[in-house]
Amino acid sequence: MNSTAEQPAEVVARLRTTYRTGRTKPMSWRTGQLRALRSLLTEHGQDIAAALHADLGKSESEAFRTEIDFTVREIDHTLERLEGWLRPEPAEVPEHLGDARAWTVLDPLGVVLVIAPWNYPAQLLLAPVAGALAAGNCVVAKPSELAPATSRVIAELLPKFLDADAVAVVEGAVPETTALLEQRFDHIFYTGNGTVGRIVMRAAAEHLTPVTLELGGKSPAFVDRNTDVRKVAARLVSTKFLNAGQTCVAPDYVLTDRETAAELEGALAEAVQETFGADPAESPRLGRIVNDRHFDRLTGLLDSGRLVVGGAYDRENRYIAPTVLADVSPDSAVMAEEIFGPILPVVVVDGLDEAIAFINDRDKPLALYAFTESQAVRDRLVAETSSGGVGFGLPVAHLTVSDLPFGGVGESGMGRYHGQYSLETFSHRKAVLDKPLG
Ligand code: NAD
Repeated sequence: MNSTAEQPAEVVARLRTTYRTGRTKPMSWRTGQLRALRSLLTEHGQDIAAALHADLGKSESEAFRTEIDFTVREIDHTLERLEGWLRPEPAEVPEHLGDARAWTVLDPLGVVLVIAPWNYPAQLLLAPVAGALAAGNCVVAKPSELAPATSRVIAELLPKFLDADAVAVVEGAVPETTALLEQRFDHIFYTGNGTVGRIVMRAAAEHLTPVTLELGGKSPAFVDRNTDVRKVAARLVSTKFLNAGQTCVAPDYVLTDRETAAELEGALAEAVQETFGADPAESPRLGRIVNDRHFDRLTGLLDSGRLVVGGAYDRENRYIAPTVLADVSPDSAVMAEEIFGPILPVVVVDGLDEAIAFINDRDKPLALYAFTESQAVRDRLVAETSSGGVGFGLPVAHLTVSDLPFGGVGESGMGRYHGQYSLETFSHRKAVLDKPLG
């Protein structure tokens, strides 16, 4: 299902020929491509939103907020600053080199591969592509086959807007991705799960190709005692149930003490009602589960604790109500792996020390969230735990700050992107020394 009807080896060879001409290096080409990508998103926002609705039941407003407008903002941020970011950076020269000068420049890498997942299938493909173009690379973009409508619309539009000899879309599933991974790339940027992340890294090792792995994991949300549980509940609900919980940085589970848990449960039930109404199945704000396999996996987790709110589901429409589970044991099925669906378990711990130990006993998460009035608690969480990022008071939002690096650590991934970090990821920072002969 290669949209260009070429074999992966031919696609890569064609792009490499383009790269060798040097055409992708000038600032004018880079900004031209970014502007063209921006036009694609603004002129065809409705088409992309319709595809996202077909794939994931995403509402139009959510599609624009979390995918289309998000990527436009990321492009604008880059366009405004790219020239400054690309300026050579002087380095201090040691005394023994006398009148020498030293500096670094950002070199494009060449031909890069971007592999995207299905949950934000437009944003997670096009935001890295924007970074790769800003850095002056040729790009092979591989959308997720699990979001087929979005994959199709992007495969149709991208070659029409961008330099088609420098940017190619290869659609398909495992066989196509496997064939792509046999090619030599200069960087592979993969977003998805850790199992495939390992496959990508193994394939990359054959060619000594560097990788960025944007993976997932169980991101905890610690709720301190004496915090306004109504406000906490509203923010947990608005972020956990975004895209029906299929968000890599969604709060996966809540950690709190017994007393706060009792108050929070009621507040979460109310917040779910306020957000999604009496029957969430009727709410346009709630997306659907991507496929039957994930639906069956998720409904299998619903008896992992006492039901506070939700629990209803309908296989035909792949609908699962926003669900909160209480009294959840750390050994239960819902705590075994990333939930990636609209189920929020509340796990009771005996205060901050136990919460920190709980987090550190597990894989390093992509994000750590906490709701607390205490600066000392915030400081301890930052200093004593490891995670891709930290969000106090509002989950998910840190990734909308283009000046913050976005990426995981340990099992949640390696490398980072967004804004200037994308440019660094898709470039080589080259050292230059100039010592006059005279
Ligand atoms: P997915 O199934 O769409 O897979 C991602 C990509 O890998 C697809 O393009 C697919 O074609 C390819 N792929 C699948 N199997 C392959 C194989 N055997 N060999 C080669 N390529 C293969 O998406 P997913 O992995 O289910 O995505 C969900 C996961 O991604 C979750 O763990 C989530 O937390 C994580 N995620 C992370 C981020 C982040 O930015 N860190 C963002 C979104 C999702």
